[in-house]
Amino acid sequence: MHISLCREHYVDRIRGIVSDTIKKFEMIMPNDRVLVAVSGGKDSLALWEILSTLGYHTDALFIDLGIEDYSEFCKRECYNFGKEIGGKLIIFDLKKEFGKSLMDVVAKSPRKACSVCGIIKRYIMNFVAVKKGYDALATGHTLDDEVAFLASNILRWDIVQISRQKPVLESWHPMLAKKVKPLCMLSDLEMMNYALALGIRVCEEKCPLSTNAFSPFMKKILNDIENRAPGTKKNFYREFLKNRSIFERTVIDDIKIMECENCGMPTVGKYCSFCKIMGFA
Ligand code: AMP
Ligand code: ZN
Repeated sequence: MHISLCREHYVDRIRGIVSDTIKKFEMIMPNDRVLVAVSGGKDSLALWEILSTLGYHTDALFIDLGIEDYSEFCKRECYNFGKEIGGKLIIFDLKKEFGKSLMDVVAKSPRKACSVCGIIKRYIMNFVAVKKGYDALATGHTLDDEVAFLASNILRWDIVQISRQKPVLESWHPMLAKKVKPLCMLSDLEMMNYALALGIRVCEEKCPLSTNAFSPFMKKILNDIENRAPGTKKNFYREFLKNRSIFERTVIDDIKIMECENCGMPTVGKYCSFCKIMGFA
């Protein structure tokens, strides 16, 4: 955003962009029940606040992955924020519900911690949204997240991932929730300013398991490019959305969707990635 606005108008403008994004991509219908996945960071907490302010029926979900100290800290942030805005927070404790924390799983897996964490979080978010009958699951992915993900996938020409990257993923199976990213047109900087304008706590706490994560590195490179050529990130993403249908042709035709023999979730093999990684299959 390249215009100067006072605090009040800035806040309205950001909420307006989120509202327009929701309508443009048909993310949420007026009477939908939305589950917002909150991590304790500023983006997802701000998303919870914005959706509630816009009048959507919104509850939030925090997944307690059992990462020493860090999960406790994030849980407290979500809990306190929920109290402030008068919202309902569902806390899902991985160890209590499934017998293992993220640390337990990572210790036994050859995969990187962030990859294991991603599989578990995606599964639990969907699981809770479907079991509790929400119409949509909203995450706090920003423009920077989307652009970093897209750039990484293009570097590897991972056509399957590229073709799946959308602001909205419709549900195509009764066990899959509709997934929406209402902040996909707003940068990390815009969300940071929004959080500061409203006094939403911006914590610098980083996940102790993510020290080698690729995404922050990619975001830094993209920000260097953005500083040289302002507008690059938004244009890159907008043009992708305009042209993304060209990537759609190759995918899924040959893939046979089955149901996980352990949990019943749709998957491409005998067991889903969650059941495999948790050692249930
Ligand atoms: P990340 O995968 O950490 O980049 O987070 C992307 C989005 O996933 C966040 O904006 C949240 O909406 C959601 N999220 C991340 N961690 C959690 C968590 N522990 N519990 C619930 N939602 C989460
Ligand atoms: Zn499964």
